[in-house]
Amino acid sequence: MEHPENNPEFEGLTVNSGVGPVPSINPYLLRKRFARRHLTADDYVSGILKGDITILGQAVTLVESTNPEHQVIAQEVIEKCLPYAGKSVRIGISGVPGAGKSTSIDEFGLHVLKEHGGRLAVLAIDPSSERSKGSILGDKTRMEKLSVHPDSFIRPSPSAGSLGGVARKTRETIILCEAAGFDKIFVETVGVGQSETACHSMVDFFLLIQLAGTGDELQGIKRGIMEMADGIIINKCDGNNVDKCQLAATNFRNALHFFPKPESGWSPQVLTYSGFYGYGIKEVWDMVYAYFDFVKKSGYFDYRRSEQAKYWMRESINEHLLESFYQNPTIADMLVAAERNVLEGQRTSFVAAKQLLDSYFALLH
Ligand code: GDP
Repeated sequence: MEHPENNPEFEGLTVNSGVGPVPSINPYLLRKRFARRHLTADDYVSGILKGDITILGQAVTLVESTNPEHQVIAQEVIEKCLPYAGKSVRIGISGVPGAGKSTSIDEFGLHVLKEHGGRLAVLAIDPSSERSKGSILGDKTRMEKLSVHPDSFIRPSPSAGSLGGVARKTRETIILCEAAGFDKIFVETVGVGQSETACHSMVDFFLLIQLAGTGDELQGIKRGIMEMADGIIINKCDGNNVDKCQLAATNFRNALHFFPKPESGWSPQVLTYSGFYGYGIKEVWDMVYAYFDFVKKSGYFDYRRSEQAKYWMRESINEHLLESFYQNPTIADMLVAAERNVLEGQRTSFVAAKQLLDSYFALLH
């Protein structure tokens, strides 16, 4: 047997060679090590329901894992947590890099915990994290105050490759966090459209952080993002930037008049604030909570959640169908040949696609 000192299974055991005092055991370290290696789905669930942040963190790691065995346990944990989830408010926070997301989230988090109590989880969707080998979003070092707050849980973006994969894991993590008693969830995102759409599809309120004077307020892609926003907040309204921010707020308000009225019946508001100096934070959160009052009374809050549940069910079906098709070894071989045929002009793309699909469906019988 391997010497305990060299074996990580025995972390917490202090052994000696037989001369001198009897080996001493650090029961805490031993339990911790043992627990990490032998948790069952029920162990994860009971730890999560007790609000144990260490176990929650380990369960999230399981959710993010691509190992099929981990996925089986993760799915069981998620399913068992589901009845305890949902009792939260979920807020998406988006903005371009440098808009001040981390500075703001640090302040926003402290504000809501102080004013509304409870527990806050900060999650992120960043499909670029796979390429950059580690997410920038949700990095604890970016939220200095919140990361040491006893009622917060900060988790960087999963790096699952495709946006769909990343988003699904974030959504599953929301369920675990809610079951662990986190009644406020921030989902941070950045991007040029698609990750915002994914974020929007899992939150109750979508908050867009903007900057004054970037000149692109009303351009192309931003329009789509602006249309999703339940609130637009213009950051860095401090020092000699105040006038510019107020002008930008007026421009945004005017622009919003030309957008169709949101389904919620809520008129998106535009506010200015300074995350760095803490100006206007209360007004931002009064607006967010006013929205919750409004949509909870009208029934839109529950409606949006049920629409999102349907959306995610369909997304999940799409994802599994694609996986089943592309990971089928026969299809994979045929695909290579079909691509060659298409490139050589022997078949059109559409005919090749139809033949591949027909072969796939035939294989299922
Ligand atoms: P992120 O990339 O969106 O997370 O942005 P950061 O929070 O990292 O902020 C980017 C830069 O803007 C940093 O240098 C911050 O200090 C600065 N910043 C953030 N919020 C404010 C603000 O309210 N006022 C001013 N003047 N600077 C800010």
